[in-house]
Amino acid sequence: MKPLLASLLTLSLFAACSVFTPTPTVSPTSSIPTVVGDDDLDYLQPDLPIFREPLIESQRGALAEMKDATVYRIEFIVDDNLVNVEGAETVFYTNQESEPLEELGFRLFPNILGGEIEIRDLTMDGTPVSPRYELANSLMIVPLESPLAVGESVRVAMRFSLRVPTEVELNYGVLASVDGVLTLAHAYPVIPAYTDEGWNAELPPQSGDVTFNDAAFYLVSISAPKDAVVVASGLESAPATAGPRKVWNVAGGPARDFFAAVSRDCEVVTQNVGEVAVNSYAPKSLQKENRAMLEVATRALETFSELYAPYPYAELDLVVTPTLALGIEYPGAIVIADKLLLGEFGEKNSAYFESTVAHEVAHQWFYNLVGNDQLDEPWLDESLAQFATWQYYRVNFGEGAADEFEDALRLRWERVEGAPMPIGMPVAKYSGLEYGAIVYGRGALFFDALKEKMGEDAFDAFIKDYVATFSWQIATTEGVKSLAEKHCQCDLSALFEEWVY
Ligand SMILES: [Zn+2]
Repeated sequence: MKPLLASLLTLSLFAACSVFTPTPTVSPTSSIPTVVGDDDLDYLQPDLPIFREPLIESQRGALAEMKDATVYRIEFIVDDNLVNVEGAETVFYTNQESEPLEELGFRLFPNILGGEIEIRDLTMDGTPVSPRYELANSLMIVPLESPLAVGESVRVAMRFSLRVPTEVELNYGVLASVDGVLTLAHAYPVIPAYTDEGWNAELPPQSGDVTFNDAAFYLVSISAPKDAVVVASGLESAPATAGPRKVWNVAGGPARDFFAAVSRDCEVVTQNVGEVAVNSYAPKSLQKENRAMLEVATRALETFSELYAPYPYAELDLVVTPTLALGIEYPGAIVIADKLLLGEFGEKNSAYFESTVAHEVAHQWFYNLVGNDQLDEPWLDESLAQFATWQYYRVNFGEGAADEFEDALRLRWERVEGAPMPIGMPVAKYSGLEYGAIVYGRGALFFDALKEKMGEDAFDAFIKDYVATFSWQIATTEGVKSLAEKHCQCDLSALFEEWVY
């Protein structure tokens, strides 16, 4: 995504996927209820013991604080070709909004990402219910028999059939089955954020991220051919073999989405950073590059844990895929494009490689831990991830390296001749060229201007406070401004006017 700088590469631990067991292991299958025929299922809440292990110890307090967050229980059965998936989902939803709800919204993203998802056997607290569909079948509206009062809960169950596109075409090929790698991005019915205007749903432009979700909890089982490896958001258990297949159980949250990749050609390298296991999965032929990727990811994780807040999970997975984007962020999981490991960007490759990995790691703080409307206020995660990458270079390689990254940011902005376009607009208001130049270039430079204006100490304290204040919540442009003003005891209106609005 952004150029310059060579990376320093050293060795890390190596193991083959097939023999790898993550350090902490999710409790055995028997403790996860099955989703099918779930009518007697107890109401699942985030304070279940199974959600403790996926978090590092200091972050487990979130479970009690978020006891009303949505819990998704999902089952994916992936076919032998890694293209078709049969699924079942039970959602335990409590109304955390400020008004009664008459219907629930679910996004069905595969229907606008080149694939197809079909829902059947939909029930609400065990009673069959008929939904209606909007936005090119990417929004399913489920009516409630009577309005769901604030604090009241409901259980929604359904089965689904999913077909995944076999080429990378729409939205960078986030959802695809290509070259023996299946990427299940936004592949299940998911409840979007609820705002003043109701369920937050729109048809997303091709250039940005597609989701805006509240943090939720996930219990997922994935059945895949025995010779494949599953990489997922959350903490994967060691797989259980069942005939020609293996079943992987995953627990995780709080998280804004669930992602999984299923691959027949991959090896994993692992390095522990404190309580966190960082696992990097790539094709066997890219062993050396995979180790380099792990090195960058662990360095970035340490840097951002120090600068912002501890990385919340016990595990971070990186996985190499044929995506058209250079990298894509998911909660606890990061996709990196194979072309970056294959060196397809020539002389500039190692700089793209390092900055992309650092940028995607930064999204674990800015997008996942601190949430935002990725479609309407993309600068809150993208510009901040770029600024974090800039800080990563300064902390790890010094001023010279930071200056080189700054040059790269300025070159990006130059793609629109340094036009003073606001950094705070929705994705849809920019052309593809402008989006890259302004949100990824000028946006990072804004944070430097903000630091200059506030003074370094006040700025550093503000960023830490920003992450603490909005952890597992939704940040907004106004929230950034008022918190920054509190820290500098100054009026930032003119600065925001010049850069953001
Ligand atoms: Zn990004």
